[in-house]
Amino acid sequence: MEANGAETAGLIGEGREAPEPGAIRRLHRKLSRGLAQYVATRRIRAKNREPLVSFTFDDVPDTALIHGAPVLEGQGARGTFYIAGGLCGRTEPDRQLISSPGCIELHRRGHEIGCHTFSHPDLQTLDAAALSMEIASNRAFFRELAPDLVLESFAYPYGRSSFARKLQVQACFRSCRGNRAGVNGGMVDLGMLRAMAIDYATDRDRVARAIDGAVGCNGWLIFFTHDVAPRPTWIGCTPQFLDAAIAYARGRGCEIVTVREGLRRIGALPTREGSESEAWHDGR
Ligand SMILES: [Zn+2]
Repeated sequence: MEANGAETAGLIGEGREAPEPGAIRRLHRKLSRGLAQYVATRRIRAKNREPLVSFTFDDVPDTALIHGAPVLEGQGARGTFYIAGGLCGRTEPDRQLISSPGCIELHRRGHEIGCHTFSHPDLQTLDAAALSMEIASNRAFFRELAPDLVLESFAYPYGRSSFARKLQVQACFRSCRGNRAGVNGGMVDLGMLRAMAIDYATDRDRVARAIDGAVGCNGWLIFFTHDVAPRPTWIGCTPQFLDAAIAYARGRGCEIVTVREGLRRIGALPTREGSESEAWHDGR
């Protein structure tokens, strides 16, 4: 007992001195974030026949519509665009966010619009009521734009959440995507789908290895990026890079699917379609 007590003290502070309240809060937040990331809370065994690859876009910059969507469509594929309605139309120093008409355009062209909260907060900073408000605001925003647009898929802003907010948000959507790299295969956590970044640090070999890995285990690989432009930001990529990644995945026998379609392929969609869809509509 003595040894354990000393270890704990060493973990959260120096020696036996009481740790600062701020330090305890930070430790609690870190532990909670780790639990959300590593403890599977909504598990399902994937039953897909073919390896799957999804291309997803977060926030979303308008170049993802201008350059990204046509690249996908050129290869007969569609993507999932996780949009925070509160960012729509905003001009930032290094990017222009998609407009409301741009969102409708994506939807009409068969792409999936996913939820990325309304104002893009770090979920760890929200209490339950604030997260409910974020989800309700984003649903209302898109319902206003297109009544037939239902947000079924969610991506965590910054890829992270507290454990409590993860449990809350996973009850409101069919799937929630994080940013922990890896292939979704075998037992999949729908509360924190894994996803690999495509950004300044991602080269073609790395993408090819990741796709090879998905093929090797018949898994589901989800990529995420932001802008798609000839001169992308550090969290985006070029149209050529995206095109090459899609072509490689195709060449390796992968199906390119939206996240919603990926869920169908792994057998995660509910059998009682009608009653479940109502729940997503109402934001419960
Ligand atoms: Zn984001």
